[in-house]
Amino acid sequence: MSVAIISHNECTEHGTDIAHPENALRLSAIHDALIENHLEPLLQFYEAPKASRDQLCNAHSIAYVDSIFTAAPDKGVIWLDPDTFMTPGSLNAALRAAGANVLAVDLLMQKKATQVFCSIRPPGHHAEYDRAMGFCLFNNIAIGAAYAKQKYGIKRIAIIDFDVHHGNGTEDIIQDEIGILFCSLFQHPYYPYKGSDTHSDHIINIPISAGTEGIEYRDLFAMNCIPAIMDFEPELILVSAGFDAHIEDNLAGICLTDSDYAWLACEIKKLAQKNCEGKVAFTLEGGYSLPALSRSVVVVIKELMN
Ligand SMILES: [Zn+2]
Repeated sequence: MSVAIISHNECTEHGTDIAHPENALRLSAIHDALIENHLEPLLQFYEAPKASRDQLCNAHSIAYVDSIFTAAPDKGVIWLDPDTFMTPGSLNAALRAAGANVLAVDLLMQKKATQVFCSIRPPGHHAEYDRAMGFCLFNNIAIGAAYAKQKYGIKRIAIIDFDVHHGNGTEDIIQDEIGILFCSLFQHPYYPYKGSDTHSDHIINIPISAGTEGIEYRDLFAMNCIPAIMDFEPELILVSAGFDAHIEDNLAGICLTDSDYAWLACEIKKLAQKNCEGKVAFTLEGGYSLPALSRSVVVVIKELMN
């Protein structure tokens, strides 16, 4: 089964002149790995469009969107919080990252692709309704979900977030959206120190202790996420695909391996096939060990193609 990859060169122009774990080498490592594994001829590549202002404002406040456009520097770097920066290329990169998720929805809903992987940066899942956070400017996946509801009238969307950090921004934006089931597995206690005390029928937060290995992680996903998603019967599945729960990633302390990511992709693909004709879009969030990130993305894409 073919997989569409959505990316854009401008996503590499965010933060080019500062040392930061969330850097452009992440995307080039992924692209190089696709070539080395001879996957490139088998994939459909699309350039990410820029998200429109209206598309951004479906997930963020107008004042916040305006503040990001205003903050964009002509030179140098500005910091929106201790982790989150903007350089001259950041605004266009962020618009492409959000726009990739809009195009992903179009490709799936117009049956031009069954499975999509957005290889984009900056990531998005920490960006709240009116706040940049944790390397994130716009909440790419929430913008994609809002677009799917508005443009195609989709009533039930499942968002799975397997980044090692809680998807606080996504939760903040969808907290009153009963048509969105949000499942986040995250190291706890750990940045952003949110999500462990949420009480909601449509938000499933699964805090996980540092040191947890793949077998226990898989059990938690199988016991909590799979039955909830099957009951919800989503018409579309979106995935915040962070790879920083990998044992080789120094930013956190969960001990997943490449094969655990293959397992996750296989289970998510099965959920999509059972519920929504296979329609699933993965969007890149974290993942800071370049070898672990690139290998893990390759196994996910191979699993989707399988
Ligand atoms: Zn993360």
